[in-house]
Amino acid sequence: MRNLEIYIHTPFCVKKCAYCDFLSFPSDDNTQARYAHSLIQEIKYYGSLMKDYKVSTIYIGGGTPTWLDENLMVAIMNQIHENFNVDSEAEVSIECNPGTVTESKLRKYLGCGINRLSIGLQSADNDELKLLGRIHTYEQFLKNYELARNVGFSNINVDIICGLPYQTVTKFMNTLQKIVRIKPEHLSVYSLIIEKGTPFYETYKFDAVRQEAGMPTEILPNEDEVYKMYKVTQMLLKDAGYLQYEISNYAKNGYECKHNIGYWKRENYLGLGLGAASLIENVRYTNTRELYKYMEGCNKLHDVGENIFISNIHDEANEIARKAQMEEFMFLGLRMNEGVSRGDFERCFGMPIEAVYRDQIEGLKREELLQIREGRVYLTDKGMDLSNYAMAKFLM
Ligand code: SF4
Repeated sequence: MRNLEIYIHTPFCVKKCAYCDFLSFPSDDNTQARYAHSLIQEIKYYGSLMKDYKVSTIYIGGGTPTWLDENLMVAIMNQIHENFNVDSEAEVSIECNPGTVTESKLRKYLGCGINRLSIGLQSADNDELKLLGRIHTYEQFLKNYELARNVGFSNINVDIICGLPYQTVTKFMNTLQKIVRIKPEHLSVYSLIIEKGTPFYETYKFDAVRQEAGMPTEILPNEDEVYKMYKVTQMLLKDAGYLQYEISNYAKNGYECKHNIGYWKRENYLGLGLGAASLIENVRYTNTRELYKYMEGCNKLHDVGENIFISNIHDEANEIARKAQMEEFMFLGLRMNEGVSRGDFERCFGMPIEAVYRDQIEGLKREELLQIREGRVYLTDKGMDLSNYAMAKFLM
């Protein structure tokens, strides 16, 4: 049986954070119920088409999935289990925002097979949380975290962002140290990106340009400070027993996120819900980002027949050319500390990796950014620090 990962998008949030450009927005109960109904139609439709796939991971992202009524979430998960062949050991994660979680919700999640929580904390400093426009305080996060532990969640990720406005290396370290003390199994530490179209862009766009150009900044930390935050994260988390297995991800042994690893290894994944993207046998499908078009389209799926490309909910479907597949293989795989397997490359593309990338590999080896050992090609520590430069070499 072929392997499949499932991503489920729930686009609703209590309110929009100031830095956020994800597909998310506030909504009323009625819209949420209609959306869940549409999602269930989509689940049934794809479930009937993908009987020869085994689901190894499910990731419920958003938005704020934990804001959705818990009974709707249970109904969605029950439909997944009824319609897909889900491995009994599957990793099933849900993104969770402090301030939207109750004991009853958490118990129901466990009851319907959700076994991993990914909590979006972002900072342990309440002033920073306020600046980000988050709906919660650090204390609320702690309460939710404790509740999740008491209810029985034994696999928890905490998301943190570094490089926030007015943030110093010491302030950032303070956040990290607080999180390390409560011992989550996994941490994701991303740098703030100032995205166009957000309130943060309007406020910090000039500083963001200065930061990127290595020039002195006024409010955002400068490039050197952000780099120090990255290095401090590596050191502090290593001392605390976390393994850095990808540029931004750290885990206790055995708790690496299987869903993300599958994504970096280009496994098949099916994206369900508004704006969700899928990669099925090297065809990338993207669902529409228009809520009403999506919901109406889902109601008519049974009219479409057995054609995975369904124009009424997909905005795009593109077959990925072989060259682009190779680029993705390298570009995504090199994000991981273990890098890419030469054997896997040869199995996928029918030729050794050197037949395509000899010059790039030799060049990066000379610069001490890349190594080959035991059948794997991976970035060195120096290569990880310069990962954008190193990975760009594999774009043909
Ligand atoms: S909670 Fe997450 S998805 Fe929702 S607005 Fe904030 S950053 Fe965006």
